[in-house]
Amino acid sequence: MECCTKYKKMDGKDIEFLLSVVGKERLFTGEEINEDFSHDELGGIKKMPDVLIEVINTEEVSKIMKYAYDNNIPVVARGSGTGLVGASVPIHGGIMINLSTMNKILEIDEENLTLTVEPGVLLMEISKFVEEHDLFYPPDPGEKSATIGGNINTNAGGMRAVKYGVTRDYVRGLEVVLPNGKVMEVGGKVVKNSSGYSIKDLICGSEGTLAIITKAILKLLPLPKKSISLLIPFEDLDKAIETVPKIVKSKSIPTSIEFMERDVILASEEFLGKKFPDNSADAYLLLTFDGNSKEEIEKDYENVAKICLENSAIDVLIADTDERKESIWSARGAFLEAIKASTSEMDECDVCVPRNKVAEFIKYTYQLQKEFNIRIKNFGHAGDGNLHIYILKDELSEDEWSHKLQAVFKCMYDRARELDGKVSGEHGIGYAKKEYLFESIGEEQKELMKNIKLAFDTKNILNPGKVCE
Ligand SMILES: Cc1cc2nc3c(=O)[nH]c(=O)nc-3n(C[C@H](O)[C@H](O)[C@H](O)COP(=O)(O)OP(=O)(O)OC[C@H]3O[C@@H](n4cnc5c(N)ncnc54)[C@H](O)[C@@H]3O)c2cc1C
Repeated sequence: MECCTKYKKMDGKDIEFLLSVVGKERLFTGEEINEDFSHDELGGIKKMPDVLIEVINTEEVSKIMKYAYDNNIPVVARGSGTGLVGASVPIHGGIMINLSTMNKILEIDEENLTLTVEPGVLLMEISKFVEEHDLFYPPDPGEKSATIGGNINTNAGGMRAVKYGVTRDYVRGLEVVLPNGKVMEVGGKVVKNSSGYSIKDLICGSEGTLAIITKAILKLLPLPKKSISLLIPFEDLDKAIETVPKIVKSKSIPTSIEFMERDVILASEEFLGKKFPDNSADAYLLLTFDGNSKEEIEKDYENVAKICLENSAIDVLIADTDERKESIWSARGAFLEAIKASTSEMDECDVCVPRNKVAEFIKYTYQLQKEFNIRIKNFGHAGDGNLHIYILKDELSEDEWSHKLQAVFKCMYDRARELDGKVSGEHGIGYAKKEYLFESIGEEQKELMKNIKLAFDTKNILNPGKVCE
């Protein structure tokens, strides 16, 4: 196996070839490339690609990849750039392929309950389209302007994971372009598939390091007819979080269980200029239940409301109209942006711990906040153990920030490991979390990951320097 770490510097001949594939309207170089393409939403790393290319079909992707492979040029696939770990940043320069322009919904198959899409279709377009057909695509990550290609590559999670699982669970088949330019299909419309290694599942969550997705077949469900949200105020976050394992144990199945604190709600009110239905308590659980009739979900939510009240909830506020649900969930969707707007810079820890360890982990973050004298904000998916913990720079100098951030991260990832947690629940490893992944997986797994990467990408040209490199 051949592994190159040195890449060809792109020149006029390369541009000439690429122009012959896509024409000059969809190829950008130098100052024509918007600065946004040098970073994602948070990853803390910046680098411009040498060339940005908007593609509109598989054939173009295949020709570009084959050329890059033959000429040893690094390539990065880009969706909407809403990632949070620097995964879509071209750290070695080279070609960035913008897949968001490959954005057609190709087929809805109501007999097989599948939707076939190009990778640049946005999450919000998918849910709207399938709901018009009385169908449901359950994965519900907060950022609705992300592309489905990005969601598949980060194995995006979201709020409904408690009941429905994550993106990988809804990918039936993929068409991909391999690093050498060859086109391959994996999986399909079939419900079952025990035919050898699941390459499809390996590509899901591979953060653009193994292949470029050019088509996806997604699994759909019938659209639940009813849903209801409960907003449950608690005196403090400990009490709220400690109730979650009791809800899980009760065998009621909420669609989602989110936790939030008052100051994050206030930040979101200020950010959106909209009032949250209640902001008088220190902490809240936000739960949703869905099903086909009011009676079906009533039993479940009444049971959960009782458990919360027995565990010192102050009240149970029911949101059963679209308007009330919208006001709660739009605020929840804005938490990340609201925290970001409240500070000069921030970074995030997206660990996932067993659900009965969430309270312990959050208490630990309070301890770190005091110990390092740095602002730390939490919110997240209490129902699946995936926490979003934001460390805020505020007025710290660059030196203090980098020193404290590293020290706080080290403590958090060490503690997550002790609690049998994982480095990332849904945002991925990308560039920013590699060192924590390496600390947590051990030599054998690291070696296996590197060999899988090499089996797909012998020249290491596809999104080099990410995940396990
Ligand atoms: C406000 C906010 C809220 C968020 N909430 C959530 C949440 O609840 N849950 C969650 O999981 N994430 C969340 N995210 C993170 C982000 O939206 C996801 O990681 C999303 O999946 C990224 O999609 P994208 O289209 O922006 O991809 P990008 O950021 O452009 O790329 C992400 C990765 O996918 C690769 N990639 C993209 N398209 C392709 C393709 N076609 N083929 C191969 N590789 C490809 C890229 O190379 C990169 O490695 C949130 C982000 C923000 C800003």
